[in-house]
Amino acid sequence: MKPAPFAYARPTDLASAVEALAGNADAKVLAGGQSLVPLLSMRLAAPAMLVDINRLPDLDHVTSDASGVRVGALARHAAVLADDEARRIQPLLALALANVAHATIRNRGTTVGSLVHADAAAEMPVVLCLLGGSVDVVGPRGRRTVAAADLFLGPLESSLAHDEIAVEAFFPALAAHTGVAFREVARRHGDYALCGVAGLVRLEGPRIAEARAGYLSVSDVPTVIDLTPALSSSESLSDEALAAAGELALAALDPQGDIHGTAAYRAQLVRALTARTLRAAYDDAGRRREQP
Ligand SMILES: Cc1cc2nc3c(=O)[nH]c(=O)nc-3n(C[C@H](O)[C@H](O)[C@H](O)COP(=O)(O)OP(=O)(O)OC[C@H]3O[C@@H](n4cnc5c(N)ncnc54)[C@H](O)[C@@H]3O)c2cc1C
Repeated sequence: MKPAPFAYARPTDLASAVEALAGNADAKVLAGGQSLVPLLSMRLAAPAMLVDINRLPDLDHVTSDASGVRVGALARHAAVLADDEARRIQPLLALALANVAHATIRNRGTTVGSLVHADAAAEMPVVLCLLGGSVDVVGPRGRRTVAAADLFLGPLESSLAHDEIAVEAFFPALAAHTGVAFREVARRHGDYALCGVAGLVRLEGPRIAEARAGYLSVSDVPTVIDLTPALSSSESLSDEALAAAGELALAALDPQGDIHGTAAYRAQLVRALTARTLRAAYDDAGRRREQP
């Protein structure tokens, strides 16, 4: 199938791009095209106009400092994944990005595009939510910062207005005494996951002071759950505590079945991946505590 006809604009400055979007209520931004173009080809989307942002200047950066990692709207997944400083400042980024699609798609798809596409089966929205990051957007009314908690409204629905362009995502740095991990199960490596979990554990001395996990592919929006109550009472991480964390997560989620797996199977993935991810994040926090 071929896309329905559409007008095409390829502006070379941000103001013109915003103007093009504002001038056509049925226009859509085209970034890496790795989600939008398949939707066009299958005629699941038929915008009247595409505003291609690939010629906009100064949007392909990946910059890191002690506060976190800033990813420009034209930085490809592959560039973020290959950035050693980003990996050092916030290791969860690379851990999750390694699971995003296949290398060819990561070469073209943008991390910011993945965020605003707001697919609850995607890895980066969950990472942004777990870390409490944000996205900066520019529109006719100026620039604003949208917190991750306010970005994801529903399946494939972000809170951006149709005439706003996301220009940068901010992923906060890894805090002291904190470890992170990412685990997912997909039918084939690179496919969207049947269930995925991003985990974060912060230690205070030997005790777990904070344990949170973000879930993908088991709800309509990326969902972060505070699992500290299941893990904070003991000085070591027991299998019983991890199992309790899995049940706590399940009580807040409502995994559904589809052609790839039953609801019961997805529930079992939540249990197993919660335990594995939190164990790995706990070990990571312990290792980092030992480092000078
Ligand atoms: C076979 C296949 C497998 C995949 N597997 C995975 C996977 O496992 N995990 C995963 O996370 N992703 C996966 N993807 C999607 C991939 O990560 C995409 O790159 C990403 O979802 C969207 O980024 P993009 O730059 O390609 O956006 P586009 O496809 O260009 O756009 C996607 C949507 O976001 C909007 N948009 C994009 N950028 C902006 C912006 N700066 N401002 C405002 N709106 C914007 C567009 O208007 C459109 O609605 C897969 C894709 C394919 C084709």
